[in-house]
Amino acid sequence: MIDSAALALAEVFEIHLPLVRPFVAAHGTLAERHAILVRLEDRRGIEGWGECGADITPYSAPESPDSCWNDLVQRLLPAMLEDRTLATGGGPMARATVAAALADLRARRSQEPLAAHWGGSLRPVPVGAVLGVEQDPGGLLAEAAGYVEQGYRRLKVKIQPGWDLEPLGLLRAHWPDVPLAADANASYSIEDGTHLAGLDRFDLDFLEQPFAPSDLESHARLARRSTTPICLDESIRSVADAGRAIEAGAAQLIAIKSARLGGPSEAIAVHDACVAAGVRPWVGGLLETGIGRAHAVALATLPGFREPADLSGSDRYFAEDIVTPPWTIDDGRLLPRAEAGIGCTVDIDRLERHLVRRKSLFRL
Ligand code: MG
Repeated sequence: MIDSAALALAEVFEIHLPLVRPFVAAHGTLAERHAILVRLEDRRGIEGWGECGADITPYSAPESPDSCWNDLVQRLLPAMLEDRTLATGGGPMARATVAAALADLRARRSQEPLAAHWGGSLRPVPVGAVLGVEQDPGGLLAEAAGYVEQGYRRLKVKIQPGWDLEPLGLLRAHWPDVPLAADANASYSIEDGTHLAGLDRFDLDFLEQPFAPSDLESHARLARRSTTPICLDESIRSVADAGRAIEAGAAQLIAIKSARLGGPSEAIAVHDACVAAGVRPWVGGLLETGIGRAHAVALATLPGFREPADLSGSDRYFAEDIVTPPWTIDDGRLLPRAEAGIGCTVDIDRLERHLVRRKSLFRL
């Protein structure tokens, strides 16, 4: 239950944080992270931070940073500050932002790390790196070499029709023993089934989301004819979606992102459903700043997450993260913070350097 009665203040920030290099996937190119951040403060002055998962590519559609800003400023946060029941309006990414900030605030109130607050632990989280669609083989190999050197536990490459055999062949030839996966971001159709079954030769950890999110049947058919495990990501927008996918035999793995599911409670419920069904869950990332990353790392310590998470160090994306200390890779792992809540401090000066707009809402 949301203890909104104790809230005194809610602030919403939009920052535009440049990426170290543009990130290219089948759904578009991203050169900077447009992050919507929520800061809640209770009457004792304890704060809680949440980061919205929406970005400016169609990946987060139908939500966008603008739509989430409006949901937060016009609906969700005023309702909480006026002691009305948390409005059910607003999209899942906007709701998840509030739920994340509340979870941080609650964990800080009870003086426990966010990981413990959610039933996780302080165990290190093994992580993998994601390679964007990089049409230059030399650039792909150079980037991958950097990640292997830093100790990332898995390489996952974004693929699309016309860019799949070459990158996978190159990566496999250079690193025969490094766990390798491919993420298609729904860019294929069932007519590509034979071609995709041919990816079995690369001994992938999994092939992620080859087909349209609603097309569970095609995923189940490919899973039956190929030895490569199928992972679903965009298909899983709710706990019910996860149940249907598992029931259909459409997924051997499921990527869990709180933002898409509507919040951490839903993410934990999907984790539990996967564990009960013998499906392997892992935590996916959304190019978050250090705030969203802190939430994702805490979630990834839940006991059912045994696969590397798609989470990188801050330096993978940003010249300067907005949290201190930034997230760094330690032997292919991210270490959950032992301090209360998200365990890192938001650097307000840095945040203000990248600030685009800000809105403060007070309890009347
Ligand atoms: Mg994906």
